[in-house]
Amino acid sequence: MNLFEPLKSKGEDKKNDNENVVAEHVKVLIIGSGPAGYTAAIYAARANLNPVLYEGLQPGGQLTTTTEVDNFPGYPEGVTGPAMMEDLKKQAERFGSQIRFGMATSADLSQKPYKVTIDGEKTISADALIIATGATAKYLGLESEEKYKGQGVSACATCDGFFYKGQSVAVVGGGDTACEEATYLSGICKKVYMIVRKPYLRASKAMQDRVDSNENIEVLYEHTTKEIVGDMSGVNGVVLTNSKNEEVKIDVTGFFVAIGHKPNSDIFKDYLDLDETGYIKTIPGTPKTNIEGVFACGDVQDKHYRQAVTAAGTGCMAALDAERYLGTRVF
Ligand code: NDP
Repeated sequence: MNLFEPLKSKGEDKKNDNENVVAEHVKVLIIGSGPAGYTAAIYAARANLNPVLYEGLQPGGQLTTTTEVDNFPGYPEGVTGPAMMEDLKKQAERFGSQIRFGMATSADLSQKPYKVTIDGEKTISADALIIATGATAKYLGLESEEKYKGQGVSACATCDGFFYKGQSVAVVGGGDTACEEATYLSGICKKVYMIVRKPYLRASKAMQDRVDSNENIEVLYEHTTKEIVGDMSGVNGVVLTNSKNEEVKIDVTGFFVAIGHKPNSDIFKDYLDLDETGYIKTIPGTPKTNIEGVFACGDVQDKHYRQAVTAAGTGCMAALDAERYLGTRVF
């Protein structure tokens, strides 16, 4: 496929689906408020493109669920996730970005200007669109998991691990994230069980070695989670099924889900090329999608690095490419 092809035929048949009246037109519309979205806003605002950014359901993105961020350059003493996102937001506003609360609920990228509907109500058209919608942690989908979310069930060890100091916890998943979370928790908790559905870990060798050499971590291979059990005060155990189909119960007060992330790309899937797991495909080394003038940055297009600093970097690239695109086009 030629990624430089100006407009994809994929979306052509959708042309007349979105009959919303356009309430506002902007030069640059940014969807998403993680490090990628805010950085794109900083650069676009400084280039006088008057960007409008919609924050989405979780203003500040995934980092607002993190406690300390120690690896973002420029904070020698570390910073909390929410504080860092507030700094990025203020910096974007300082140069005139309009940051608005609202969630993009549908999009029509079949023709220019591109249209995005916010909260199912207001449709905005834009000459250039920057998608920075990030990714969301996946859950197993068990009823008991839903019941105990925030009361023992979490998808972020660095956010919630502290609450389980000296206790026993479980981490489900066998990838790098699960190994990282288990290793992190092993420094806080009495015992960490890893619940892995296959007879092996999917994580990198280095991560596996860290888990294997950690006396606090016990890996339960070929086990799946049947149910999370608890009472009014929260989780107190997990019922597992082993390879012989026998039920096993482990006594834990925390249950950490680390089975991957889902990119928030659903509303664009009729128009943009996505990979098999839903990540938006970009031309390698750029934030350009298969539609000219539509850019993707941050975790919605990156399943490998997924760091605040790399997201910010691609946000910067998206704004610079949007500026170039707008500068070379007559609207
Ligand atoms: P992965 O997709 O790599 O791993 C997901 C894990 O969860 C797999 O073990 C998978 O099992 C398991 N899983 C998925 N669904 C279920 C389910 N329903 N029930 C039980 N288990 C399930 O996701 P990660 O988040 O770990 O990693 C994503 C990417 O980020 C990878 O490329 C990884 O290398 C990278 N990463 C790198 C890090 C680093 O280098 N420091 C840190 C964290 C992530 P199965 O194997 O059976 O499919």
